[in-house]
Order: sequence, then structure tokens, then C-alpha cells
Amino acid sequence: MVMGSLREFEYVEPTSLEEAFSILGRNGNSRILAGGTDLILGMRERKSAPRLVVNIKKIPGLDKMQVDEHGGLRIGALVTINAIDASEFVRTAFPILADAAHSLGSFQIRNRATIGGNLCNGSPAADTAPPLIALGAIAKIAGPKGERLVKLEDFFVGPGKTVLSKGDILVEVDVPPQPRESFGAYLKHGPRSAMDIATVNAAAMFSLRAEKCVDARIALGSVAPVPLRARKAEAEIHGKSIDEATVRKVAEIASEECSPISDVRGSAEYRKAMVKVLVRRLFGKAFHSRLVQSEV
Ligand SMILES: Cc1cc2nc3c(=O)[nH]c(=O)nc-3n(C[C@H](O)[C@H](O)[C@H](O)COP(=O)(O)OP(=O)(O)OC[C@H]3O[C@@H](n4cnc5c(N)ncnc54)[C@H](O)[C@@H]3O)c2cc1C
Repeated sequence: MVMGSLREFEYVEPTSLEEAFSILGRNGNSRILAGGTDLILGMRERKSAPRLVVNIKKIPGLDKMQVDEHGGLRIGALVTINAIDASEFVRTAFPILADAAHSLGSFQIRNRATIGGNLCNGSPAADTAPPLIALGAIAKIAGPKGERLVKLEDFFVGPGKTVLSKGDILVEVDVPPQPRESFGAYLKHGPRSAMDIATVNAAAMFSLRAEKCVDARIALGSVAPVPLRARKAEAEIHGKSIDEATVRKVAEIASEECSPISDVRGSAEYRKAMVKVLVRRLFGKAFHSRLVQSEV
């Protein structure tokens, strides 16, 4: 098959995971296709030139979202970003994920783009990565040797690289139920408010008891080779009540934990400065959402 400026490639549509594993196992230079919004662009720009494209959209079950018996959510890898954005359940139970989905690309892109593709592309700027890391999500990976579960915070290993081995398919992302007292926020900063990859993005979840922080998870995107959990910043607030001085200190530490690069979207110094701003704003947005939640 030849398409525009794309190099020639073979194209297959397996109808089961087993068939897909067998095809991927037999063909070294192959790539999985989901929505194609990253892959096809990469092929057009000659960043990748697979000989075989394996469209997994005919494999049944991967496009389902299911609430489990504990109130957690199983999101199939082929669920589109628009389906996540439109889900009442996600909006209520995991609003930081709904906000991130809504911020990704345009309506048309979100209609094709899948959550699996967003994560497997391995971009440090992927919009769904920080909220899913802050929510403690788990990636379910299937391969010829069976299934394994990987915490999403351990899923990314470098720019464009994940823990997936050749032949592995991300089948599901499991989001655990959050404690009743938890609340959070997602923020994205970029040169344009729509249709742009983040210069910096950030998500946080907090749990307080007697106004003291008992759990904090802060995840940052586009400021390191992989989406990053800011563990030192989190440790700073543990056991403390959250006041202005603490927030400033946490934002400072989070910024120090980053190792951004300079590129067309911003210099490393700018990104570090924006982390401080975004983390401070995360607290503001999260506490506002907590107030609104308590009034409902
Ligand atoms: C105009 C435009 C705007 C965009 N804006 C944003 C934005 O604001 N924020 C953002 O985060 N992204 C953005 N993107 C990038 C892209 O749309 C998303 O990353 C999208 O979620 C990718 O999903 P997909 O299904 O299209 O992936 P695909 O392109 O099909 O695949 C991406 C990669 O993941 C692999 N893959 C896909 N699914 C699986 C799986 N289940 N198991 C194993 N490997 C798999 C593919 O082989 C490929 O390497 C934008 C893209 C465009 C073109």
C-alpha cells in the first residue's frame, strides 16, 4: 500500500489478541495502529517507517469502559479521548482525568485519539499521563508470554519509550477508586489554549484528615524525559496542614525535581519557573474543587 508521502507498508487487521501477538512476533519492523494521530504523523514525517502496520481496532473488547465493583474504572486501550471527556462517571469520580482529556487536541483529534495511543506513544507531554499517575492508575499489558500489571508511574522509560516489549499490547488502564476525602486538579500550560502539546502539564491528588495532609500525589509532564512523580515535593507536605508557606516550598521542591530540555515550546529555565507557578495553582484549583464538592 502507498499513501501520499508515506513509505510503502503492509497492513493487517487481526481480530484477536492471539492473532496480533503472532503477527507482531513474526514481523520485526511492525507498528501497532490505534487512532493513528501520532503514528501516521510520525510516518509522514519519516520518524518511523514500519514495513507492517497492525491495526488493533478489530480486536473486540478493547474499546470498553467499565466501572468495577469497588468504584474503580477499567478503561480499554482503544477508548477514545472524547469518550473519556464525555463520560459522566469520569467527570464525577475522576475529574482531573476528564479535564486532561478535554484539553487534548481538538474535537476531531479526540474523536480518533485513544488513551492507549496517548500513553504508548511515550511522550513526556502526554495529557493523560499526569492525572493517571496522580490517580495511581495501573497499566494492563498483554503479550505472547501472558499478562502483567505495571504502575503507570513506572510505565515510561524515556522519550518515546515505555516498558512495552516487542509484541506487547497495552490492553487496559485501571483507575482505582479514590478515598472519599480526596480531591485534586489538572492544569496544562502551553502557547495556545487549544490544539497544542503542553509546555508543562501537572496533576495532583490530595487527601486530608483533620486538615493535615495524609496523602499527596503530584505528577508533572513535559519537564523530564518521562512524566514525573514529584516525590520529594509530596514528602514535604505529608502530615502538614496546607498554608501559603508550605505551598511555596512544595512548588520550589517540585521545580528542583524536574530536568527539562529547551525546545521550541520553551527553555529549560522557563519550564522550571512554570512548574513553580503551576504547582501553586494546582493547590488553588484543588482546594476550590474541594469547596464545591462539600457544597453539593
Ligand atoms: C493536531 C494534533 C494535536 C494533538 N494534541 C495533543 C495534545 O494536546 N495532547 C496530547 O497529549 N497529545 C496530542 N496529540 C497527540 C495524539 O493525538 C495523542 O497522543 C493520541 O492520544 C494518540 O492516540 P492514537 O490512538 O491516535 O495513537 P496511535 O497514533 O495509533 O499510536 C501511538 C503510538 O502508540 C502505539 N500504540 C497505540 N495503541 C497501542 C496499544 N494499545 N498497545 C501498544 N502500543 C500502542 C502505536 O504503535 C504508536 O507508536 C495531538 C496530535 C495531533 C495530530
